[in-house]
Amino acid sequence: MTEQLNAQWRLAATPKGGLPSTEDFLWVTNELPEPEDNQMLTQTLYLSLDPYQWGRRRSGVELPGEVCHGRTVSRVVKSRISGYAEGDYLFNTNGWQQYGLSGEGVGIFGYMHPRKLDPATAPISTAIGVLGMLGLTAYSGLMVQCQPQAGETVVVSAASGGVGQVAVQLARLAGCRVVGIAGAQHKVDYLQALGVDSVVSHLDPDFSEQLKTACPDGCDVYFENVGGKVFDAVLPLLNKNARITLCGVVSQYGNTDGKDPRAVWQAVGEPTFQRQQVTVHDLFVGNFVDQYQDVFLQEMAEYVRSGEVKYKEDLRQGLDCAPRAFYDMLTGDNFGKTLLAVGDDPTR
Ligand code: NAP
Repeated sequence: MTEQLNAQWRLAATPKGGLPSTEDFLWVTNELPEPEDNQMLTQTLYLSLDPYQWGRRRSGVELPGEVCHGRTVSRVVKSRISGYAEGDYLFNTNGWQQYGLSGEGVGIFGYMHPRKLDPATAPISTAIGVLGMLGLTAYSGLMVQCQPQAGETVVVSAASGGVGQVAVQLARLAGCRVVGIAGAQHKVDYLQALGVDSVVSHLDPDFSEQLKTACPDGCDVYFENVGGKVFDAVLPLLNKNARITLCGVVSQYGNTDGKDPRAVWQAVGEPTFQRQQVTVHDLFVGNFVDQYQDVFLQEMAEYVRSGEVKYKEDLRQGLDCAPRAFYDMLTGDNFGKTLLAVGDDPTR
């Protein structure tokens, strides 16, 4: 072990603003914790930055003074748990810090059970991306909830992001006609290179017209990541018996009106849902872990190995840039799945 201190970002106070700022976070350094019996100390190699983390902070679920929560890929540096040895890699939830304890007496974060990783299967960073909860989110929402059929038109918003890029590729593999919505031109180019049939930028002034042109047969399945004006443009295109997975509404996560953005989304869509008999599936990935995670990981590992599914990471360097990278991810100044390299990955 080369470092003897543990740097952390802690939540300074329950955020008052709409979007994260540096004042929301405190940089703290502590002594490394010592694992007790049935515990291990792991070094964070990669930290995942995800929209839901902002929801926890703003709603007060994450308490001021706590180490900010986050999914991580880690390496065991000291183990007192049988079955885990120094040098093993695992998915866990160390959060926004360089080192963390796992094992007995250390809370497991809900459905995010620690698991060992084999670097021979895929690059270990993918355990917080395509081969982790993000991939499972895309799979659960698209394949399990909406069950797209070959020839149907599937529209995906935030299509180049962590969840979206997996959803568009799964839809293609299912034989669908896929329409991706993204922001900046380089994201549009990336999606076209992936083979997405039609890509539209929500930043263009004539976005709604472009989207309509891109969906000559309407929209059978909509994978919703964004909400707001993107959703407004999709609504008139929904076919009879269309299916939607309501994955997230990231464009609304900076709102300060106190309203529940998912409830607002539902109310906006309701007249169309009634008229077109649209089925809306509310998605929470945690509900799919027990039944689908193992089978998903097996299938997706094969797709990644064969190159049938590609993935793009927006890898930022160093724990110190976490607040900035977090802000960038929430506002679209990212490109692919956003993660931080916190420690050196010997397998990379
Ligand atoms: P991401 O897509 O990698 O990053 C967020 C993206 O949102 C940005 O890159 C940006 O893409 C887009 N965006 C931000 N503000 C926008 C705006 N005002 N208008 C349009 N687009 C905007 O993030 P992710 O981690 O994969 O998450 C995607 C969605 O999935 C989020 O809504 C998240 O809450 C949801 N999610 C839900 C679950 C669940 O269990 N339901 C689990 C995981 C994630 P562009 O630049 O292309 O616009």
